[in-house]
Amino acid sequence: MPEGDTIHKAAARLRPALLGAPLVRFEARRLVASPDLRPRPGMVIEDVEAVGKHLLVRFDAGMVLRVHLGMPGSWHLYRPGQRWQKPPHRARVVLEVPDWVAVCFSAPTVSVHRAPSGPAPLQPVAHLGPDLVGGEHTPDEVAALAVARMARLVPPGRAIAEVLLDQRVAPGVGNVYKSEVLWACGIEPFRSVEDVTDHERHELLATAARQLRSNLGRARRSTVPGGGLAVYGRAGSPCRRCGTLVRSRRQGEQARRTFWCPGCQE
Ligand SMILES: [Zn+2]
Repeated sequence: MPEGDTIHKAAARLRPALLGAPLVRFEARRLVASPDLRPRPGMVIEDVEAVGKHLLVRFDAGMVLRVHLGMPGSWHLYRPGQRWQKPPHRARVVLEVPDWVAVCFSAPTVSVHRAPSGPAPLQPVAHLGPDLVGGEHTPDEVAALAVARMARLVPPGRAIAEVLLDQRVAPGVGNVYKSEVLWACGIEPFRSVEDVTDHERHELLATAARQLRSNLGRARRSTVPGGGLAVYGRAGSPCRRCGTLVRSRRQGEQARRTFWCPGCQE
């Protein structure tokens, strides 16, 4: 699963290329949409935005293309006629405008929705919690909203690390930030959610929002002073805080790898 900041960066890259441009060509394999809801040549792209882990492309004809990037999904931007860096059969969405071709490879879910009139909340992503990365809320405000959703939506017994990945609580945290945020707050990833206090939950989510936002403008992801990551990908290396060797193991239904320090995360 890509991190929320990845989607925001993709939207920031695509926006200047696509905004206000008329569609020349649209292709989407395995598109989920009713037949009358399909972007057609001539429709103008009005906005490209990231909402949680979804990239939304709005057309003037009142429809929204929604692309959810799975683990291998990525957006590429090419000039017309330029050779693609990945095989064409893996393209899931092709959005061509007069000067650019935006191609999304390997995204598992692509759908088109009728855009509701008026401003947000947008129907297609209404089941998602408040976005940790974007939006008008401060990290503390967004954390407060997410903590309330966590209390309402998450059943007891789930490990806190898995809860952080739950898009219904708050989209944005992927597998990298999951480990980084838990280390930053000194919380052991396997602790059951009901044993994590409201204060700790708030700290986790506010820290996630701050880390995600501070990485928006950076080419290399960094969560510690001096650059780099605290624990993710560092199994066997000394913890930057206490020197204990960092460990990793697979966790949860999807067996996502979790990195943590057994010395200073309790
Ligand atoms: Zn440590």
